[in-house]
Amino acid sequence: MGTVPEPRPGLREVPPYRAPQLDVPVRLNTNECPYALPEAFLDDVAHAIREISFNRYPDRDAVRLREAIGSYAVQPPERVWPANGSNEVIQQLLLAYGGPGRRCILFTPTYVLHAHLAWMTHTDVASVDVPEPFVIGDEHIREAKDSGAEIAFVCSPNNPTGNVQRPDTVEGLATSTDALVIVDEAYVEFGGESAAGLVARHSNVVVVRTFSKAFALAAARIGYCIASPEVIDDLQRVRLPYHLSAQSQATGLAALQHTTEALAILDAIRAERDRMFEALSRMTGVTAFPSQANFVLFRTARPHTEVFEGLLERGVLVRDMDAAVPGCLRVSAGTPEETGRFLATLEEVTS
Ligand code: PMP
Repeated sequence: MGTVPEPRPGLREVPPYRAPQLDVPVRLNTNECPYALPEAFLDDVAHAIREISFNRYPDRDAVRLREAIGSYAVQPPERVWPANGSNEVIQQLLLAYGGPGRRCILFTPTYVLHAHLAWMTHTDVASVDVPEPFVIGDEHIREAKDSGAEIAFVCSPNNPTGNVQRPDTVEGLATSTDALVIVDEAYVEFGGESAAGLVARHSNVVVVRTFSKAFALAAARIGYCIASPEVIDDLQRVRLPYHLSAQSQATGLAALQHTTEALAILDAIRAERDRMFEALSRMTGVTAFPSQANFVLFRTARPHTEVFEGLLERGVLVRDMDAAVPGCLRVSAGTPEETGRFLATLEEVTS
């Protein structure tokens, strides 16, 4: 790929999204939270779901959830828009502003779903290659500007590399282009500085976040964006009617009543991430990349496929990232026991 988009592949040429969902003892491949949710939260969700009038459609505008997200994210509710996971928010943004003849630009390596969602919405995809240590600089912003893209994606902390981009970088992009800058902050609670403060000043900045990671709610499918009221008005034109179920709205509301407990586990997850990074950095033949997310990207001297298979045979599932960053694998921060088992197994596989 480059800043000139490649022709759009046909339906059968594109593989469906398939991160393996295997029942293995140590599952560290999709950056989920390794901890179960507290009983008090589960009781509140059960109670809230019991109260739903299931014969009626849910609140189309998710008013209460938007207010609660607004309080959490320190934003007025008219700047908040929730959907079924941040993936759906991004899909809605692309439905609204992408489409045939329009182009988005990615700073690669980055989250593969951005390109896939662009493909789904018939939006052309171009990319600016950002080499190690994966930090977007002025030269990359210039390339993005010259590409003439209508949409630019920035992911911070970035998946799969784990590094952050500064809000200044986002602001540079937002002021030097007319593009809609979509900042994917799925991992922002784990580290880095949010670009949300820019939204009020730059109507072309949209920040997308999720309940799937820091709130440990991947199963519930709740994400949201912080955007100008004009953008949110546009999203209402492309979303499916009643897109967010009453169960999802109730679950999100309950989560926001338990923010303190939810966020209390972040320290434990960051500690495991840092422990993995340090241990990986000390291993012979392994290079680890510093991360501010809940995962670590690493490269092994031994071929990545052998390492992936070797770990899996011993019950540890990680993610092979070779297609995005040659020779690399990504491991999510687990419980201390899971991290310990991953590190010990990796030593065995790579020695
Ligand atoms: N953005 C990034 C960078 C991600 O890594 C993920 C999940 N892997 C998502 C968005 C999607 O999250 P969800 O749809 O669960 O909110």
